[in-house]
Amino acid sequence: MTSSILVLGAGMVGTCTALHLQQRGFDVTLVDRGAPGQETSLGNAGLIQREAVEPYPFPREPGFMLDVALGRGAQVHWHAQGLWQMGKSLLGYLHHSHPLRHAQATAAYSRLIAHANNEHGPLIAAAGAQDLVAHEGYRYVFRTSEAFDKAAQRAEDLLARFGVRFQAENSAQLAQAEPALRRPLAGAVHWLDTWAVNDPGTLVQRYANLFVARGGCLLMGDAASLRAQGAGWSVHTAEGRVQAEQAVLALGPWSDGFIRTLGYRFPLFIKRGYHQHYTPSASVRQPMLDAERGYVLAPMQRGLRLTTGAEFAPIDASPTPVQLAKAEALARELIDLGQPLPEQPWLGARPCVADMLPVMGPAPRHPGLWFNFGHAHQGFTLGPVAGRLLAEMVSGEPLCIDPAPYSPKRFG
Ligand SMILES: Cc1cc2nc3c(=O)[nH]c(=O)nc-3n(C[C@H](O)[C@H](O)[C@H](O)COP(=O)(O)OP(=O)(O)OC[C@H]3O[C@@H](n4cnc5c(N)ncnc54)[C@H](O)[C@@H]3O)c2cc1C
Repeated sequence: MTSSILVLGAGMVGTCTALHLQQRGFDVTLVDRGAPGQETSLGNAGLIQREAVEPYPFPREPGFMLDVALGRGAQVHWHAQGLWQMGKSLLGYLHHSHPLRHAQATAAYSRLIAHANNEHGPLIAAAGAQDLVAHEGYRYVFRTSEAFDKAAQRAEDLLARFGVRFQAENSAQLAQAEPALRRPLAGAVHWLDTWAVNDPGTLVQRYANLFVARGGCLLMGDAASLRAQGAGWSVHTAEGRVQAEQAVLALGPWSDGFIRTLGYRFPLFIKRGYHQHYTPSASVRQPMLDAERGYVLAPMQRGLRLTTGAEFAPIDASPTPVQLAKAEALARELIDLGQPLPEQPWLGARPCVADMLPVMGPAPRHPGLWFNFGHAHQGFTLGPVAGRLLAEMVSGEPLCIDPAPYSPKRFG
């Protein structure tokens, strides 16, 4: 008999989880309060980041910390209320960012990242989404030669340890590759295997269309209405209450609020981020990180998207796009940005975990309930492999990766 399962949350992670469960013969209902891919998975920089083998540690350099504390620089912004609310998780994040613990996290994280392209590739093809994806890489650009030299050395190390391919480009090579740059820079690390999606929300939509075309059921509904029912779970949807034997929570940055209602206290927190689109006279050809200033420029269908670093603030606090203003001024030093599109800046939240690893596996105290969230800075990259690993765990088949480091049980 076919086994039934609900997947709650149709961002990149939930949609890919639904596809992988469906592929393994489950009768899957994918539920979201809105259309697929309209939240965090829409507003990101659109990068499928094969280079991101190391999760982001909490920066520990005293100078950087002082800048953050004093509100200088564009990389980090904070609300006192956010620090207060997420304080315990942030202390855990600081603890796990110690080089020894960060190395352990990297070992587990890099195993997931290694599958990013191999897992996205077949889905992109099956969903007919090749038009959205460029394969020309992603650059970290550097203003000073000290930072460039250090980054090129680090890239050598990542190539040796994780097979992350790159090309170091000097000032002239960078200027030739990106003629829109209005001043010479020290150089760039060009990550060759990173893919760039020019409309991230539409890629999730196409994956969701594929799920529906293959017979999956996509419904509007509220995860807050999830209830244990008999030996299974049910949720209220636009078509009434839907019941299934099992359920997966893939609510991205809203997962913490939800699992608290079930009695779980995991060290989760969020890093908010903004984007704004511009209409430059000449755009950059490939996405780039202004590595010493901490923002990304990514060419999108709507225009050139500028995305910001981390803001520590409650998920529902009013927008405070101060980083956007700072990053815009910095980006204007590099290219002629043109005008911002007449739209409110987009605001989203990266779903983070203190130990920098996602939460994937069975809910410790709720039989038939599974967790798949906390993919932080790379949830758009990791959605397909996260979906595959979770589906393999649910179906009891051999696993592509050892899931122990991501187990929800690590938090009790
Ligand atoms: C500025 C910025 C730039 C980024 N750049 C990149 C990048 O280049 N590459 C990368 O890999 N990652 C990037 N990320 C991170 C990435 O966007 C996220 O990790 C990823 O989108 C998380 O996906 P998700 O499916 O877990 O969450 P989401 O996409 O947020 O999906 C969660 C879903 O749950 C639904 N939901 C929530 N509550 C309920 C409820 N009560 N009932 C029903 N449904 C509900 C929401 O509607 C939503 O559709 C970036 C993030 C930011 C903020």
